[in-house]
Amino acid sequence: MNSFATRVLNGPITQAHCQALDASDPLAPLRHRFSLPPNVIYLDGNSLGAMPAAAVERAQTVVAQEWGNDLIRSWNSAGWKELPNRLGNLIAPLIGARENEVVAVDGTSINLYKVLSTALRISHEERPHARRIISERSNFPTDLYIAQSLCEQLDYELVLIEEEALPECLQDDVAVLLLTQVNYRTGAMLDMKSITSAAHAKGILTIWDLCHSAGAVNVDLHGSNADFAIGCSYKYFNGGPGAPAFVWVHPRHVNRYAQPLSAWHGHDAPFAFVTDYQPAPGIQRYQSGTQAVVSLSLLECGLQVFQEAQSLGGMVALRRKSLALTDLFIALVEQECAKFGLMLATPREHYRRGSQVSLMREYGAGLGDDSGAYAIIQALIARGVIGDFRAGGGKGSPHLDILRFGFTPLYVGFEDTWNAVKHLREVLEKEEWKNPEFNRRNSVT
Ligand SMILES: *Cc1c(COP(=O)(O)O)cnc(C)c1O
Repeated sequence: MNSFATRVLNGPITQAHCQALDASDPLAPLRHRFSLPPNVIYLDGNSLGAMPAAAVERAQTVVAQEWGNDLIRSWNSAGWKELPNRLGNLIAPLIGARENEVVAVDGTSINLYKVLSTALRISHEERPHARRIISERSNFPTDLYIAQSLCEQLDYELVLIEEEALPECLQDDVAVLLLTQVNYRTGAMLDMKSITSAAHAKGILTIWDLCHSAGAVNVDLHGSNADFAIGCSYKYFNGGPGAPAFVWVHPRHVNRYAQPLSAWHGHDAPFAFVTDYQPAPGIQRYQSGTQAVVSLSLLECGLQVFQEAQSLGGMVALRRKSLALTDLFIALVEQECAKFGLMLATPREHYRRGSQVSLMREYGAGLGDDSGAYAIIQALIARGVIGDFRAGGGKGSPHLDILRFGFTPLYVGFEDTWNAVKHLREVLEKEEWKNPEFNRRNSVT
């Protein structure tokens, strides 16, 4: 475990230093593409991205004009039918996919069901003896739940491993490797290319969940030769609450089978209304039923900001700023909060880090057996610094509670980071988190 030591190198970091970083930030103008309340420092874009300012007018147009006035004609006149494909094409270059290889539809869990089923069918045909799915124990639970469901239906076994067990666990009896590129708890990033290549050496298919990496780090699906990918768009893509997710399938697999939720929008001719299912060619077959048009329309506002970012250096510049922000946050926590029992859960090495920083405290450092992590986050939120909390396993568990801070380079600045740490120090120094109000848990943490 990684304890914070007091930083003595090169003297302390100052607020003026952070202001100077903002002044020379080429991405700073993008902050104005978002509407955030005053006096809020938003460090939870890894959970629900901020609202693009354009979303308000877009919602007004979609609801009042396209729906209210133009009614059903909008499927054609407003391009509703094309939304999954059009938005997929905005997402594709951000994840290393090509034109017409991605659709924006349904949710991440649903899309995982589709691709995992297909991967298992392909694997069954080629390597029928391989009956295992491997994933990480610390993967986001919904991914594991979907895998468990398919294991029950199709008689596969889900094997959960720790990251250190890769790649030795990739053996002949493994059908599919299901991994999330950036871990939701710790922000640790996996090496997609080398892991995929190790899996392929054994004939194993790979599914990559990009929920915490799409829009935050450079993802290169083709460069990594991945097989399938899914991800959500309400996190770093700023698509809005419950925004539709996306799905990508490598062209070598996409036409092999229909996906299991074979519904009419994935049909080759949905408006022919024929009785037999005939999958559309390519990724269009990964559509299922009618989509949430209002939500899809708002996602376009989030993706348009990335188009604008293209002229300012695109994902390369965003990644550079994200690392600078998380480096700064780590250094400032070391400088300002060294004596409060915080530990760093996120890797320090850039190539191993996503776009968040997770801190931990031991159980017993809070009230009773508690770590105090939840209460610290609540006290920060009361001061306008919004991060979140992810539960560990409780006393006796190897997993500690996490205080999670996401850094979306589109709208978080360097002085924001300074101020966030200043508030964190004050919450700890003044023991504000001990207030009973901050220790009562809400249902959504
Ligand atoms: C956020 C997240 C999800 C969310 O799935 P939904 O179906 O959109 O609720 C799934 N997997 C990972 C790894 C996530 O981080």
